[in-house]
Amino acid sequence: MLKARRALVTGSTSGIGLAIARALAAEGAEVILNGFGDPEEIARLCAELGARHHGANLMDPAAIAAMMDEIGPVDILVNNAGMQHVAPVEEFPPEKWDAILALNLTAAFHTTRLAVPAMKAKGWGRIISTASAHSLAASPFKSAYVAAKHGLAGFTKVIALELATHGITANCISPGYVWTPLVEQQIPDTMAARGLSREEVIRDVLLAKQPTKRFVAPEEVAALAVFLCSDAAASITGANYSIDGGWTAE
Ligand code: NAD
Repeated sequence: MLKARRALVTGSTSGIGLAIARALAAEGAEVILNGFGDPEEIARLCAELGARHHGANLMDPAAIAAMMDEIGPVDILVNNAGMQHVAPVEEFPPEKWDAILALNLTAAFHTTRLAVPAMKAKGWGRIISTASAHSLAASPFKSAYVAAKHGLAGFTKVIALELATHGITANCISPGYVWTPLVEQQIPDTMAARGLSREEVIRDVLLAKQPTKRFVAPEEVAALAVFLCSDAAASITGANYSIDGGWTAE
C-alpha cells in the first residue's frame, strides 16, 4: 500500500516508534529510523526493515535540519520521539522541563516545517504525531509532559487547517499506557513521588487509568498509523485518536 512512499519515524529505535516503523516497512514504505541505541542493534533493525538510520538528537534544531536535508524529502512524517520525567512541580528540574518541551513538542515543529514544502510540491503527505492520553487529560507530577502533549495536539490542529487543501493530513494518535521502556523507566520515580511499591504503581497508578486493565500493545498503535497513511484516511485530518483502553472516556 505504501510502496514508493518515504517515511521518517522519529524515536524509532525502541517502543512505539519501532512498531510503527515495522508496520510501515511491511506496507512497502522506505523507512528512515531515528533514535539512540546500541549501534549493532540499530544495524540489525536497518537490515530487518531495509531501512536507513539517522541518529540526530532531536533536542537540537540544527541537528534536525541536517537530518531532514540528508535523508531527502519524506512523504510520511511520524513525530514520535518523546521522553518523560515525573516529579512534583516545585521539585521539577528546569533542565528536564526544557528537554521535554524540546523533544516532545519543539522537535515536531522543526521536522514538520522542513517536511512540508516537499509534501506540498507533491500534493500528498501524512503527518502523524504520537501524542498521548496526556494530550487530553492530566495526571499529577507530569507537568512538562502534559504541557508538551497538549501543545502537540494543538499544533497538529493548526497544521491540519493550513495543509487541508494540499492533500496533506495531520493527526495525533493518543495512546494510554503502552508497555515500552518509557513506561518502565518512570516506575521508580513514580514510586518515589507517591511512596508506592512497583506493583502498586502498575496496578494503582498506571492500569488504574485504563478501564481495559491491560497495557496497549505498540502494534495496536502502529496499525492505526498505517490506516492514517492510507487513501481511505484522506479526509481524516486535525483529529486526535485515542487508543487508551477507555481512559479518556471517563
Ligand atoms: P521509548 O522510550 O521506548 O522510545 C523513545 C524513542 O525516542 C527511542 O527510540 C529513543 O532513542 C528516542 N529518543 C529519545 N531521546 C531522543 C532524542 N533526543 N533525539 C532522538 N530520539 C530520541 O518510548 P515509547 O514509549 O515508545 O514512546 C514513544 C512516544 O509515544 C513518545 O512520544 C511518548 O511520549 C509517546 N507515548 C508513550 C506512551 C507509553 O505508554 N509508552 C503512552 C502515550 C504516549
